[in-house]
Amino acid sequence: MAAPWDELLRDQPALREAATVAVDSALLEGVLMRTEGQPNASDVVNFAPFTLLPSAVPSALFEQAYAVQQDFNLLVDAISQNKEFLEQTLASTIKVDDFTAQLFRIHTQVLEEGLAQSVFLGINRSDYMFDCGPDGSPALKQIEINTIAASFGGLTSRTATVHGRVLKVLGKSEEASRLLPNNPARGLALGIAKAWELYGSVSAVVMFVVEEIQRNIFDQRCVENELWNRNIRVLRRQFREVFEQGCLDDARRLYVDGQEVAVVYYREGYVPKNYDQQNWEARLLLERSRAVKCPDIATQLAGTKKVQQELSRPGTLEKLLPGRAEAVARIRATFAGLYSLDRGEEGDRMAAMAIADPDRFVLKPQREGGGNNLYGEELRQVLEKIRDSPERTSYILMDKIKPQPAKNYLLRAHSPLQVSECISELGIFGVYVREGKEMVMNKAAGHLLRTKATEHADGGVAAGVAVLDTPYLV
Ligand code: ADP
Ligand code: MG
Repeated sequence: MAAPWDELLRDQPALREAATVAVDSALLEGVLMRTEGQPNASDVVNFAPFTLLPSAVPSALFEQAYAVQQDFNLLVDAISQNKEFLEQTLASTIKVDDFTAQLFRIHTQVLEEGLAQSVFLGINRSDYMFDCGPDGSPALKQIEINTIAASFGGLTSRTATVHGRVLKVLGKSEEASRLLPNNPARGLALGIAKAWELYGSVSAVVMFVVEEIQRNIFDQRCVENELWNRNIRVLRRQFREVFEQGCLDDARRLYVDGQEVAVVYYREGYVPKNYDQQNWEARLLLERSRAVKCPDIATQLAGTKKVQQELSRPGTLEKLLPGRAEAVARIRATFAGLYSLDRGEEGDRMAAMAIADPDRFVLKPQREGGGNNLYGEELRQVLEKIRDSPERTSYILMDKIKPQPAKNYLLRAHSPLQVSECISELGIFGVYVREGKEMVMNKAAGHLLRTKATEHADGGVAAGVAVLDTPYLV
């Protein structure tokens, strides 16, 4: 990828000045986060970390990522309705992974009772890196698809303005004018609003289920405000509050604090630490209700790493999306090598291969939120330890994607300005709404570029590793 800023990167005084402008612009535009010290107070805020310069993204791969998003929406939706596929795929995983097992129990219980929900809303984000082939040409490879609590669609709608200003300050007005507008928060809100409308009760509210620690509240407020602009009421509640204040009526309409809830939008509930016994009960209550869950529990399961690995098996996509050969081909083109570690010949062979050549792979447990994967020497040690134990099946193995690094400055509060070798991850937001069997909305809703220094193998923005960025198409 031709780095368009080589010359700029050598002009230290200009970059220093631009960094000051960048931080003030970020604060003005609302690229904000609460602080680590006071994660639940908005009286002290700071800018969310971001790159000084926009990063180069090959335009063909950017377009490819947008072009496949509706296919991924259809795929996730199809998986969520395919009880047998989820059951077979997760059978080995739920024997050893308690968290996935608990989600699966709720899924089974809800299906046994019969679904009260008839409108379905999916908001996902498919993440990619640009794998550098032997000939140096980059290819779009999916890292994962997030089907629950995909974040930063709000803050990222403000980064292009900040980067545009930085480029102007650095004498690059032409380049600044080429940055693409991007507003995922609006797209997500349109999906939520559509689901709310189809639910069909004007007095019902949208409930955001939020974490106890809410550092990223401004990102959520961007989506929330789009709903208020459409005169849709929004509640923010934690699982604990749902447990205390929530109930279902005879028709399984959900009431929280006396207010009927049309849409439940989870910005929490994706990691074990989000749950205690009460929170699980609250989750079950929500899943049993008529309210539109974003996502419902089946769609959350569709986003597990085990499902991702099974999708890469020959023939699986064709079965899930019958009669859609072109969509299947577009989806498959983005897959990196993914391998099962289930017990048996195939798993034994892959475990041995990864132990022999750990730098070729990433070892992934069924977890979300960054910082869980294993690489290199650590991968080898862990895999050697669990090689002959059932625990092995709670992981999948993936080919390591190796993007071409580029230089940039990562701006973080209280950190010195210094150049880093960086790699980027592109996410495309997808939104869809289904009523009964009919898709009534299926869209790509915008993008998110996150960039991190190459010394960190893993971790997102919330984990303090990656920072927000804006693609500069080349
Ligand atoms: P999580 O659900 O924790 O976000 P991901 O699969 O997205 O899990 O992995 C977290 C991070 O690890 C990614 O953002 C990326 O930086 C890195 N990573 C994941 N898979 C790969 C891969 N196959 N090759 C290289 N890096 C990877
Ligand atoms: Mg991820």
